[in-house]
Amino acid sequence: MTAIPQSLPRRKFDVVIVGAGGSGMRASLQLARAGLNVAVLTKVFPTRSHTVAAQGGVSASLGNMSEDNWEWHFYDTIKGSDWLGDQDAIEFMCREAPKVVYELEHFGMPFDRNPDGTIYQRPFGGHTANHGEKPVQRACAAADRTGHAMLHTLYQQNVASRTNFFVEWMALDLVRDADGDVVGVTALEMETGEVYMLEAKTTLLATGGAGRIFAASTNAFINTGDGLGMAARAGIPLQDMEFWQFHPTGVAGAGVLLTEGCRGEGAILLNSEGERFMERYAPTLKDLAPRDFVSRSMDQEIKEGRGCGPNKDYILMKLDHLGAETIRKRLPSVEEIGHNFANVDITKEPIPVVPTIHYQMGGIPTNIHGQVVEHINGENRIVNGLYAVGECACVSVHGANRLGTNSLLDLLVFGRAAGNHIVQFNDKNKEHKPLPANAADFTLSRLAKLEENTSGEYSQDIANDIRATMQQHAGVFRTQASMDEGVQKIAAIRDRVGNIILQDKSKVFNTARVEALEVANLMEVAQATMVSAAARKECRGAHTVYDYEHPADHPTAPLGRDDANWLKHTLWHSASNSLSYKPVNLKPLTVESVPPKVRTF
Ligand SMILES: Cc1cc2nc3c(=O)[nH]c(=O)nc-3n(C[C@H](O)[C@H](O)[C@H](O)COP(=O)(O)OP(=O)(O)OC[C@H]3O[C@@H](n4cnc5c(N)ncnc54)[C@H](O)[C@@H]3O)c2cc1C
Repeated sequence: MTAIPQSLPRRKFDVVIVGAGGSGMRASLQLARAGLNVAVLTKVFPTRSHTVAAQGGVSASLGNMSEDNWEWHFYDTIKGSDWLGDQDAIEFMCREAPKVVYELEHFGMPFDRNPDGTIYQRPFGGHTANHGEKPVQRACAAADRTGHAMLHTLYQQNVASRTNFFVEWMALDLVRDADGDVVGVTALEMETGEVYMLEAKTTLLATGGAGRIFAASTNAFINTGDGLGMAARAGIPLQDMEFWQFHPTGVAGAGVLLTEGCRGEGAILLNSEGERFMERYAPTLKDLAPRDFVSRSMDQEIKEGRGCGPNKDYILMKLDHLGAETIRKRLPSVEEIGHNFANVDITKEPIPVVPTIHYQMGGIPTNIHGQVVEHINGENRIVNGLYAVGECACVSVHGANRLGTNSLLDLLVFGRAAGNHIVQFNDKNKEHKPLPANAADFTLSRLAKLEENTSGEYSQDIANDIRATMQQHAGVFRTQASMDEGVQKIAAIRDRVGNIILQDKSKVFNTARVEALEVANLMEVAQATMVSAAARKECRGAHTVYDYEHPADHPTAPLGRDDANWLKHTLWHSASNSLSYKPVNLKPLTVESVPPKVRTF
């Protein structure tokens, strides 16, 4: 990429979708089937998107194996979210769940089956019958390869519907016109190194999570938060970024995930004394309490000296009592992972696990149609032409802590809803809005800087510093002092991002350029996280701060949630590196609100 052209080659579509994971492909399917001209961009082949790694299941109150209904699912999701989830969006998602799961079944999804032919469902953390009475079987599963089965099903349906895939294309920036409407994106074709202007009446971001801002993560290497970076640079705030989920059972030392489906099938967690300690922390749900609860309890055991191994720094998950036959049928990948990443035969011995970064609850703020919303002077304002769905979006159904299997559901429900809404928008808007004259300038200046820098740092060094800082200052347990220090460190790292140099400036498949562009996105996400976290002076869901006390009347309750001051969503603004807040929607669409109460399990 020696000389960068000042005007870019253009292509024009009804809709550009950035991301070919479950959410992007569920949306594109709706659009392609309605006859729209859809381009789906993806950094990797569609079926290698992180959705493929999802193991445990997708939730829906089908009631195939134990009594269930959508209102119990609705209640569990609100309680799981520590009341930060918007109750209108949660009602919408839980009501739609059976419909989208049956639809997926009819697309050809190979779910496991019960003897009567219905979809197999397993218990999962925080999913209960009758408002917390006992675990319920709500997670619809294809062994421990549910995401794999789902992503392939959606890909095949998209191919049949003639969706245009742009494989190994990286979207760089959103293009907004003078009205603030989004009229397309700039993108890099990795194979050739050419940069394009992709015009679209609607752009949908479905770029997945950004777990790679942390050093130890269950996420794929491509999960660098590109959609969040694009939104932040385009002036759109990022919502609730302080809330990151630690999955209780990453393989110690490797980070690879062992699905909560293990505990759904009956696995238990043990400390160095051989004690099933979750019975103490969550007497009713035990090992199947929500993830924030279990991760905190594990860390507490380790901190109090009851960790396992020579350094007492992990917990053991025991599965052998399930029997080799059940393990091979229901958890075949977990058995493989045990062998490959821990040198453990899980049918015979327990496997070392630690809480590991897994999922971002925050993201680009949207409404239930997937439309991106800004919050200006106390009012929600829709950003015309821009939608977001999936893990990069914050609708917000997961609030401060997501329940397992609610993400695959979120992809299906909101991917479909956004698709339907875009079809209507497209009917009403026959013409593309004109591109502003300076549409490509911002991207071109970013690229030019990378080309021109002759001294500076390599992107990997900066990425490693971001990851180490986040790991140290935004972990399972946080302290105010450590978060404040993290804010300073991240700001200092940000100053270095402009000085990234490329040693190799060639065009064809230059992955160093891709990584350098990804670091700019990691930076936005990391700063959003650190600044939002340091400002929230309470404990809620996955945001646990030592400094804030347990409520006096509930010494066993998880910490000091402060509804009077903090029952609100955080919005981080990149340009000013500042925060604003907006209220949580406690009003569902049709049913009674579930008022906040103390969260025990
Ligand atoms: C190991 C693991 C197991 C999980 N298990 C479960 C589970 O059992 N149940 C559950 O509900 N949830 C699970 N989750 C969470 C869930 O899988 C994810 O939240 C979800 O799959 C994300 O889907 P997505 O469509 O938002 O994004 P992804 O599937 O991550 O896809 C993102 C897409 O965006 C593309 N992209 C990104 N940036 C760019 C760019 N700049 N230009 C072009 N393309 C870009 C990528 O190429 C990719 O196609 C799991 C997550 C992990 C990591």
